Amino acid sequence: MVYPIVIYGHPILRKVTEDIEKDYPNLKQIINDMFETMYHSEGLGLAAPQIGKSVRIFVIDGTPAAEDDPSMADFKRAFINAHITERSGELVLMSEGCLSIPNLREDVNRESLVRIQYYDENWVYHDEVYEGYKARVIQHEYDHLDGILYTDKVSPLRRRLLKGKLNAISKGKFEVDYKTILPGQKIH
Ligand SMILES: [Zn+2]
Repeated sequence: MVYPIVIYGHPILRKVTEDIEKDYPNLKQIINDMFETMYHSEGLGLAAPQIGKSVRIFVIDGTPAAEDDPSMADFKRAFINAHITERSGELVLMSEGCLSIPNLREDVNRESLVRIQYYDENWVYHDEVYEGYKARVIQHEYDHLDGILYTDKVSPLRRRLLKGKLNAISKGKFEVDYKTILPGQKIH
């Protein structure tokens, strides 16, 4: 099932998500639906709050980015109860976008290395270190679990300039090829 994507300004995108238990209802189905929704909207990653679920899950499939960065090939994972325990390396500035903030891209500084602990969709525990583009996508999706959006991380000047654009987005003034839920609309 393809879920509609929750759009900037909706309060669920600002909630800190909660860890789940192994027997969380329909967990495998939710993970499958998250991948399906992500592919449908042509994203590299998707976090549960973006489909209206305030739980600590995100999915990534880096395959579409492999053309630009071969390290992203076959980087397909589900991250459940994800917790970053270390961010290090140098700060790298790179352009980012987000399915919840359509038709916008901004440069964001992020650390080049992360260590992350999580369970996969088979409830196997992982403690892994990622670098480069992978570390970037992980940090973007992980931030969603803490109610943080990439636009929070741009420079104060850029943020002031973005205010009007973000306001327009939250009012639905954008066009995309996927279904969305605007602030004020009910999540089913
Ligand atoms: Zn995002």
